[in-house]
Amino acid sequence: MTEPIDRMLTAIDLHAKSCRAALGRDHIDPRVKDAMRRVPRELFVPEENRAFAYGDHPLPIGRGQTISQPFIVAFMTDLLDVQPEHRVLEIGTGCGYQAAVLGELAAEVLTIEVVEDLAKQARATLHDLGYRNIVVHQGDGHAGLPDKAPFDRVLVTAAPGQVPKPLIDQLAPGGRLVIPVGGRFEQYIRVIDKDEQGRTHERRTIPVAFVPLTGGDAPARAEPPKIRG
Ligand code: SAH
Repeated sequence: MTEPIDRMLTAIDLHAKSCRAALGRDHIDPRVKDAMRRVPRELFVPEENRAFAYGDHPLPIGRGQTISQPFIVAFMTDLLDVQPEHRVLEIGTGCGYQAAVLGELAAEVLTIEVVEDLAKQARATLHDLGYRNIVVHQGDGHAGLPDKAPFDRVLVTAAPGQVPKPLIDQLAPGGRLVIPVGGRFEQYIRVIDKDEQGRTHERRTIPVAFVPLTGGDAPARAEPPKIRG
């Protein structure tokens, strides 16, 4: 019988064929798929959703947040082009699944989650699974982690309206940032490379639907109209 994880990886491969232009090939890097095969996705979702853990869709994880769709995890990890010696910063830990996939590929992963309960839960899950190269920080990811910079790779898994400048500043020369950018209803994943001279080059890839990156300099939501009584 085909295991659920094999079905998930097959779905990812099928989906990759329609993203040839963005990936530069018609499949996901086998290193990324091997990393995803090693991470038990069902342990990152709430118990009542475990039966759906390997479907190619996002799932709720509580606090109005989600675990990303497996294809999107594969696609963004592929674009990030992580090498074994890399230090990686992730913004938007959520349940910690993407961080675990990065932890399989990189030397060190630092990840920031703004919701305290999610940060605690992710820390516990990653610790129980034996990941000693992943550190979960709690806070607003817009600022990155200036004390720990520079990073070879930065991955953002919630969408800001604009690319937060500290994240570009904290990229090492030769570094890469992968980030969904846009409003609630229209976002695209961007790939931003910093060359050895510190100049940045940017390309736009596929449309996506991430939860918003909260905080930072985002304009506050408009006040509701005052009702005069
Ligand atoms: N990487 C996750 C996806 C999580 S969804 C995965 O592996 O499935 C995005 C997460 O970003 C949510 O948990 C949300 O709370 C968090 N988030 C939103 N704004 C943030 C901010 N300013 N700083 C850090 N985390 C933020």
